[in-house]
Amino acid sequence: MTRRIFSTILITAVVAVLLASFLMAGTVYAAYEERITGELRSKADHIVQALNHLTDDEAYLADLVSSERITLINQDGVVIFDNILDEGSLSDHSDRPEVMEAIQTGAGESRRYSDSLAQMTHYIARRTQDGSILRISYTRSSIFGVFADLVPQLICMLLAVTGLSLLIARISAKMIVAPVNNLNLKAPLENDVYDELTPLLTRMDRQYTQIRQHMHDLEQAQSEINAIMEGMQEGMILLDKNNQLLTANESAAVLFDPGATPEIGAPLSALCHDDAILAIVRDAQHGKSGDALLRKDGKTHRCFASPVMHRKKIGGVVLLIMDISAQYAAEESRREFSANVSHELKTPLTAISGFAEIIRDGIARPEDIPSFAGKIHAESKRLLTLVNDILDLSRLDEKQSLGQMEEVQLLPLLHRLYESFRPIAADKGVSLTIRGTEQCIMGYPMLLEELFHNLIDNAVKYTPAGGSVTVTLAKDADHVLCTVEDTGIGIPKEHIPHIYERFYRVDKSHSRQTGGTGLGLAIVKHTAEAHGAQLTLQSTVGKGTRISVRF
Ligand code: ADP
Repeated sequence: MTRRIFSTILITAVVAVLLASFLMAGTVYAAYEERITGELRSKADHIVQALNHLTDDEAYLADLVSSERITLINQDGVVIFDNILDEGSLSDHSDRPEVMEAIQTGAGESRRYSDSLAQMTHYIARRTQDGSILRISYTRSSIFGVFADLVPQLICMLLAVTGLSLLIARISAKMIVAPVNNLNLKAPLENDVYDELTPLLTRMDRQYTQIRQHMHDLEQAQSEINAIMEGMQEGMILLDKNNQLLTANESAAVLFDPGATPEIGAPLSALCHDDAILAIVRDAQHGKSGDALLRKDGKTHRCFASPVMHRKKIGGVVLLIMDISAQYAAEESRREFSANVSHELKTPLTAISGFAEIIRDGIARPEDIPSFAGKIHAESKRLLTLVNDILDLSRLDEKQSLGQMEEVQLLPLLHRLYESFRPIAADKGVSLTIRGTEQCIMGYPMLLEELFHNLIDNAVKYTPAGGSVTVTLAKDADHVLCTVEDTGIGIPKEHIPHIYERFYRVDKSHSRQTGGTGLGLAIVKHTAEAHGAQLTLQSTVGKGTRISVRF
């Protein structure tokens, strides 16, 4: 800006100085010339008058003190006197314009310029009475010569003007720019500066409003994304194309590095050290989506890495981490269950098929056939019980097929079971007692019957002769509490945590002998869950077991 102002001021000043100089010099020169010419004319007239009255012209002229050149030319054009040059050396002057004009009119004037010397000579000629011509000439600088003489002063003046222009330009630029630098850009229209800036400030105000709106929209969008990301149970990590962290939600941060705040711009390897995940992210950086399993703190996660395309190029990678522990455990237990079911079904079926084959081939002795048929019957019953238990469990797994809950009177239900177990218990020499008052709960009658059937069945099964099984129904605070207690063999401590698992048996051979499937307590657990009931098991080896269901 300073340079622009400077050049503008300088050009203006130089032009002004030159113009003023020319104008003034011209005016002064013209006035000076007019005065000199006037003086020369009157001097010429004065000398001519003197010559007209004198006889010795040359003597008069020779005595005359004059700074101008005075020449006397006779009628033939011959120079008869010259106060500066030698008359003899001068040529015929009758052809000089001023001389010719004076011969004709009595007075003549002419000016002659010398370009090379930048000088001008002014001639004034007068005719005397005797016909000779008096000429006075005065040589002075031409107007260009005058200018040439002025050049040093002009240069000095221009230098001074340049310096002054620079100073003024600097001060002006500072003064112009100061209010512009102090503009309040947040409220452009509130600035009171130059009127010329009003259109610019109006545009700035419009753009500032637009930018503020954009910023607000962006912030809102950002906070929505943040809220979504932070609300997500899945871990989410965004990486740029250089594998550096753009953002990571809390779920991801907690998973990889609990308590640490992920540093934006840090490489992924600073947060995650799992080789499989780093490998799928590397693949995603090359455009190939992939997934990997991550097992951490007893949980299973599936991680998906996908490239994020930006203008047909890979702009980064999004890594999504989902907790699939429950799904994985369910799959695992389904796999285990299928394997167990096949195994459990295979044993009785092998026995049935073996005995049937012996009978078919006539290998069995006739007296053994009833015993084999009895075994086939027993194994088939076992198979049937097993299939029923599996069906019950799968019904419990698919909660939809349970139907509607209804009011269930527990005491009559327990009495029915008592009636069916009484002969078995009596056969074994185990005393079976049902105690308590009537209690009514909301539930699935069939399932509840199955639950207590399994508990009483186990209690009777695992209590040796002479022992007792007591079923108590009571109200405990707001809850209905049903307890099945026996004085049986008890369950070793280390087995108690697994007792509700499917096909889990403490003593496999004993359980098989007693017709157990290993599914009874699994059904009890699922049924209790379906009723929102709480199961408690206390057991001491050799002393007995007590299982309570709190509804
Ligand atoms: P099972 O059909 O083998 O009885 P359960 O699921 O009902 O299968 O029981 C699992 C295991 O828990 C049994 O094999 C047994 O070892 C143990 N068990 C269950 N109830 C009792 C009990 N009242 N006393 C001692 N052991 C028991």
